[in-house]
Amino acid sequence: MKYKTVVFDLDGTLLNTLGDLTDAVNHAVSHLGVKPSTEVQIRARVGNGAAKLLQRTLEANNTNGDIDECFKRFSEYYRGHMTCRTVPYGGIMHLLEKLKLAGIKTAILTNKFDLAAKEIAKHYFGELIEYTQGEKVDVPRKPAPDALFSIMEMFDSDKDSTLYIGDSTVDIQTAKNAGVKSVAVSWGYCDREHIKGADILVDRVYQLEDIIFGIDFKEIETNFTKRGFGFKIFDTKEQASDYIVSQCEGKSVGFGGSVTLDEMGIYENLKEKGIDAHWHWKNEPIYMNGDIYLTSANGLSKTGEIVNIDGTCNRVAATLYNAKRCIIVCGLNKLARDLEDAIDRAKNISAPLNAKRLNKKVPCVTTGQCEDCMSPERICKAMVILMNPPTNMECEIVLINDNLGY
Ligand code: SF4
Repeated sequence: MKYKTVVFDLDGTLLNTLGDLTDAVNHAVSHLGVKPSTEVQIRARVGNGAAKLLQRTLEANNTNGDIDECFKRFSEYYRGHMTCRTVPYGGIMHLLEKLKLAGIKTAILTNKFDLAAKEIAKHYFGELIEYTQGEKVDVPRKPAPDALFSIMEMFDSDKDSTLYIGDSTVDIQTAKNAGVKSVAVSWGYCDREHIKGADILVDRVYQLEDIIFGIDFKEIETNFTKRGFGFKIFDTKEQASDYIVSQCEGKSVGFGGSVTLDEMGIYENLKEKGIDAHWHWKNEPIYMNGDIYLTSANGLSKTGEIVNIDGTCNRVAATLYNAKRCIIVCGLNKLARDLEDAIDRAKNISAPLNAKRLNKKVPCVTTGQCEDCMSPERICKAMVILMNPPTNMECEIVLINDNLGY
């Protein structure tokens, strides 16, 4: 295993603390006549400690108040109510148990005040977390790397064997300042656009297990090939692109709508080589009659199924019939544990992100998860699960060791 030590942020990473934080902030400023904030409003203000959270709340309400007094009220209230509505995110307890069993050292590094951080960590995680450090007067706060360095020293871990996992730009910067690999989690308090700078961005807890324990690519290859799918894996999108271009020489090629393919610049590479390629995303008509159909998937199960959703449905239709060969190109971010997770990924990660990209008026754009809407703008009118390649069609997965598309 590559990592000896895994350090986590707390709020928004291991624990959903928004309910209790919101109650405590509202109590802390209530004597100033400030109207109660919602969890959505508090979510936008967290990340730099309680004093900053209170200051931002007063500013948002155009209210002057004594921050020290608010902080005192906040601390007193929060100490008595910090485990009322707080819960670990789904899958976190299982992950921590697995880390413990594997002998990987774990710590929490948070800008929450130290006493509260220690109490809350003990309450929820007990012995599963070996050390917790919160905000202390004599230690510079995150994103300063000092506390992270101390933890690494305590655990006899160097930069290469330490992983830092958090949900905010402060966390990413802390890891960068310490020279350790950063993982940003999208389920926390920061919007996705703000955490793109992390070395790796994950949407589900099981992806953390993949990063820490590694992926058994051989097993995945076996699961796809025994179903009749071709399977290739590449380290970089450039290597994958070279391979795909080599397969398309002398053939006619159609494209399905795909951010992955666009990010890889494959259409441009094919055109440069004079290959007969057609893509409706490049001011051409929809083309489904080529020798090869290139597309991506919304979810790829490690057990060998391919999940795609579609609104117009030309893309899913072309993966089912007509093309002689279909090449499905995916980054590792599309990989899910099993079919159920691949469907979850398609519905609750791909669809909301694509709906947002296309400016659709559907509820998942706001909530970030499928609300099973009946809107005419719904972008997931069909879901296709390929269990095996369709009759008379060769079908191949190209998996890339990178995050690509949605
Ligand atoms: S059904 Fe509606 S809410 Fe659900 S993912 Fe599709 S567009 Fe979004």
